[in-house]
Amino acid sequence: MLKEMPTTGREWSVLKQEMIDRGNDDAKWREGKTAVYVFNAGEDVARVQKEAYTLYMSENGLGPLAFPSLKQMEEEVIGMGLHLLHGPDDSSGTITSGGTDSINMAVKAARDYARSINTVSGTPNIVMPFSAHPAFDKACIMMGLEKRRIPVGSDLLADVSAMSDACDENTIMLVGSAPSFPYGLIDPIEELGKLATDKGLWLHVDACVGGYIAPFVRMNGANIPPFDFEVEAVKSMSADLHKYGYCAKGASTVLFRSEQLKNHMIFDCDDWPGGRMVTPTLAGTRPGGAISAAWAVMNYLGIDGYKAKQKMVTDARIVIERGVESLGFRILGNPQLGIIAYSHAEVDVYAVYSQMYLRGWFTSLTTEPKALHLMLSPFHIEVTDTYLNDLKDSVEAVRSGNTDSITEARYS
Ligand SMILES: *Cc1c(COP(=O)(O)O)cnc(C)c1O
Repeated sequence: MLKEMPTTGREWSVLKQEMIDRGNDDAKWREGKTAVYVFNAGEDVARVQKEAYTLYMSENGLGPLAFPSLKQMEEEVIGMGLHLLHGPDDSSGTITSGGTDSINMAVKAARDYARSINTVSGTPNIVMPFSAHPAFDKACIMMGLEKRRIPVGSDLLADVSAMSDACDENTIMLVGSAPSFPYGLIDPIEELGKLATDKGLWLHVDACVGGYIAPFVRMNGANIPPFDFEVEAVKSMSADLHKYGYCAKGASTVLFRSEQLKNHMIFDCDDWPGGRMVTPTLAGTRPGGAISAAWAVMNYLGIDGYKAKQKMVTDARIVIERGVESLGFRILGNPQLGIIAYSHAEVDVYAVYSQMYLRGWFTSLTTEPKALHLMLSPFHIEVTDTYLNDLKDSVEAVRSGNTDSITEARYS
């Protein structure tokens, strides 16, 4: 599609109104009617994100010498992330643009580490549970690696013995999720750690959607199993600030057990006329605002603030669990954080999804098994009754023969 740029510009006030109007058909996240894509931690957090972002919007994380402010804020954000996730003294990390970026950079580090110790003779491979995020597929595509997705067990968790069987001398990484996105369940990281130690393998824990909620849910009293650097074999982790860290989008953390492991991630290029260029990740320019907003939100909420927000999430989850069970749904596994998925023995959940969509809800699905999926935010505690009433109506509509399917809406 081509479009000619306007010859003369228009007033900002006019453009602004047009942009607002264009959002009219978007998912109604401000009313709490989405449970995917957006994390709503309240107006006050949104204000901190926006103001802190604009304060450093023009500055560039590419230039730590020019902007020691950003370097300091990044170090402090990483330090807080490592502290929450039991990083040892020498642990280290970097802010990236998102979970996919963090995962790709961790895979790059693991590959270059394997090269440095000369263990791999054929095509390097990554052994992961079927439930792992497609970001690992992307990393394999980009770096010419082989992906080995191993079916999960009947508990929908990583099947450690099947993963063990899938490893060979060319395996460069084992993956566990804390939790997996589709099921919201934490893989058995300690057992994966034993496997990694036995085989001398790099274990990556993908805590993109759990890294900044699980520690606080544990502080609130839940019995969360060890999933982070507390497990000795964990070499790297991905944890997204722009998910349950409630930071502005474009911010994740990739974390390493040691500075030495992190060094395998770094690019150091000198063969061009512009001088030596050292970047921690693939990015050149890095938005200062994503870094400053992350620093501000973490310091604005503090441990008490996160504990309170995450309690709203888990409280909402518990109310919804009870409600959907009373409608005949079965919760997949034993979710402990902010994601739940539930299937139904009698009604087609995709038809229910369509009915919910017609009632203004934009949520998610899983395919194996077929289930409805929610990724909850603190704000959802306000709308659990509305959700459950609409779900009851939707199930009734499907039971009485209304099976219009509009699930394409989820993917378009
Ligand atoms: C969201 C997510 C990712 C990818 O993160 P993006 O920020 O969307 O790139 C990876 N893994 C898990 C488990 C996730 O939930």
